Amino acid sequence: MKNSGGGYKYAPNCSFCGQSADKVGPLITSPNGAAICKKCIEICSGMYKDELTQQQRQQPGGAARHPDEKPPINLKIPKPEEIKNSLDKYVIGQDHAKKIISVAVHNHYKRLVSNMGTDRAEDDVEIEKSNILLVGPTGAGKTLLAKTLARILDVPFSISDATTVTEAGYVGEDVENIILRLVQAADYNIKRAQIGIVYIDEIDKISKRSENVSITRDVSGEGVQQALLKILEGTVANIPPKGGRKHPHQEYIQVDTANILFICGGAFVGLDKVVRRRVGKQVLGFRHREETAGRIDIDSDQNVLKYVEPEDLIKYGLIPEFIGRLPIISDVSQLTKAELVRILSEPKNAIVRQFTKLLSLENVKLIFTDEALDSIAEKAIAKGTGARGLRSIIEELMLDIMFEVPSKQNISECVITADTVNGKTPELLKKKTDEPELKSA
Ligand code: ADP
Repeated sequence: MKNSGGGYKYAPNCSFCGQSADKVGPLITSPNGAAICKKCIEICSGMYKDELTQQQRQQPGGAARHPDEKPPINLKIPKPEEIKNSLDKYVIGQDHAKKIISVAVHNHYKRLVSNMGTDRAEDDVEIEKSNILLVGPTGAGKTLLAKTLARILDVPFSISDATTVTEAGYVGEDVENIILRLVQAADYNIKRAQIGIVYIDEIDKISKRSENVSITRDVSGEGVQQALLKILEGTVANIPPKGGRKHPHQEYIQVDTANILFICGGAFVGLDKVVRRRVGKQVLGFRHREETAGRIDIDSDQNVLKYVEPEDLIKYGLIPEFIGRLPIISDVSQLTKAELVRILSEPKNAIVRQFTKLLSLENVKLIFTDEALDSIAEKAIAKGTGARGLRSIIEELMLDIMFEVPSKQNISECVITADTVNGKTPELLKKKTDEPELKSA
């Protein structure tokens, strides 16, 4: 509280750092006259966080669970078919990838449960970890697949970008920050984090031959691949709880990455050429017409990445050890116009549905004609960013409507036609027909 002279009347100094309220801002005071400033509160809060970290380290498996917290794993593992059916609700197309992922994820969690069991020592069959590599164009649903999986399985999920990671000694992030993000997504419940899903995007950008995307990173990207090897395979990683670079005398949270499912994704621009060359060579090897009759037409096949093999990825610049840690490889195909149209309106949270809902709150019926949806899909294809372009096109299209409609009283319907999409004619806003006046009783 300030007195008339501009200074603070009560507790003019922080009882901890001794600084005056004039210097450090308002103080929190106790009834018996002690006071504390904002800075000292922050220091104390930091100390408590560190203490929590210490406790987490001392407890096997991580932090103690609050009674309200979710159990680390729901032991009911969905069957591959169930996983795929759930994926279908959110992700359009990509049937092949969905099938591969559903089987891999089902096996991953079966492995996890079998590893947690007590009969482990009796048979020495060890099920390998099934990390996944998704290869395909941008905006085709790679991240969405991973995110939806985590939602279906109800496990923590985080996304990281491979281009921000550098090997120790370079400016950038340590690989451990990838795990830190997962730990944060799990609200620092280490047990849950240890069974989570991590999506690492732009994995193609750390190939040896890729142009250097980060000016501070090592030239080849190979160092980053090396740095990622351990966490992909399974290690007890020491995570700095506040992120940033690791340094000595720091407290760490220990996280076992053995049961974390890693899904890596990348567009791998140019990989199609590598695949074409290899498959083309194999095709050329056939001598007889009968043998070549049923061959794949590799030159005209748009989704040639479905033939991708580990050796192609090695040619592309991923090191063999790295590919070895990603045993499940699946292509994700370029979305067709029909699929883009479905994406606009079919999934539970489809963008057209969202806008329809928003306008219905204004008592306005929003209608997109089939031709309008087609035109939007065509525009997105022209942009070359896959389904990612759909949102920006619709948002631009809807801006004026969303701006004007709430202040107009007499609109009941808003029809979006192909012309509206192409900006030729303004959107059609139908006025309410004059309602007959209610006769008074
Ligand atoms: P990628 O990771 O392949 O670059 P994303 O998964 O991030 O692409 O896709 C961007 C957005 O586009 C998603 O959030 C989603 O809204 C939409 N999207 C992309 N692919 C699909 C799909 N197959 N089904 C439904 N929506 C999709």
